[in-house]
Amino acid sequence: MTLRTHLLGALCGALCSLFFVAGCGSPVQLSVSNYQSDATFAVNSYLISGENDAILVDGQFTRGDAEKVVTMINASGKTLRSIFLTHAHPDHYLGLDVIAAAFPGVPIVATAEVVAEFKAKGPDALASAKTNFGAANIADKLATVTVLSDDKLILEGEELQVVKLSDGESPSAAALYGSRQKLLISGDLLYHRAYLWLAECKSDAWVSNLRSLSRLGPIEQVYPGHGAAPATASVIDENIEYLGTVVPILQSANSVSDAIAKVKQRYNYTGGGLLDYSTQIYFSACKKP
Ligand SMILES: [Zn+2]
Repeated sequence: MTLRTHLLGALCGALCSLFFVAGCGSPVQLSVSNYQSDATFAVNSYLISGENDAILVDGQFTRGDAEKVVTMINASGKTLRSIFLTHAHPDHYLGLDVIAAAFPGVPIVATAEVVAEFKAKGPDALASAKTNFGAANIADKLATVTVLSDDKLILEGEELQVVKLSDGESPSAAALYGSRQKLLISGDLLYHRAYLWLAECKSDAWVSNLRSLSRLGPIEQVYPGHGAAPATASVIDENIEYLGTVVPILQSANSVSDAIAKVKQRYNYTGGGLLDYSTQIYFSACKKP
């Protein structure tokens, strides 16, 4: 071994031990913990942790829930490196300003499509939430969310692929997929034993997105946007079955209350607020004559 290769080897070893670079020695095993709001919406925020650092996914709806996410992050002992917003629905972003205040300088990122939708709809969503859920319960302003310039997030050398989705549960969205870890942080592409939000009139595209997941690679653990976590990959077929069953129920029901009763008769899930609000919107926006 020449002195040069010896020095390079020593340098690589030092870098590996300091930064847990993928490909040097044992790969980092990521762990995922979550905070879930109460059964009204049962919305999840996830902390993906390596040895020292962490990434937060989604930021809750109310001020109180966002504060509990801050507690979860502090209790982890990890250094928060970034916050990823999966999609521009207010139950995932209105709490972000509270979290941002607790972790100044930590970037909040999303895909360009999600950022555009967030900027377009965020102000009205904030004002509406203040009116309907009590001004004191909702953050005073929207957080600053910037465009993620890459198609992946890296946590201590471990790659999480940003999987762009459109016209499903929301007009734009992205999931995170870790191929080596075989994990999917799905955002609201997937719900686990929680009522699906069917207010965007895009259930066919949603099913297409769900079917496309098989092309990603192996998935062992799924971290859904709403409901119990983690789930297994079987939750994908469960959501396809739910959409295929509930959309016809909503189409044929005579009233919002009739539709809600029939869905509850078929599925005993959490997230009653999701069902109540989204069925009302479905009847005014999506129901075909
Ligand atoms: Zn949601």
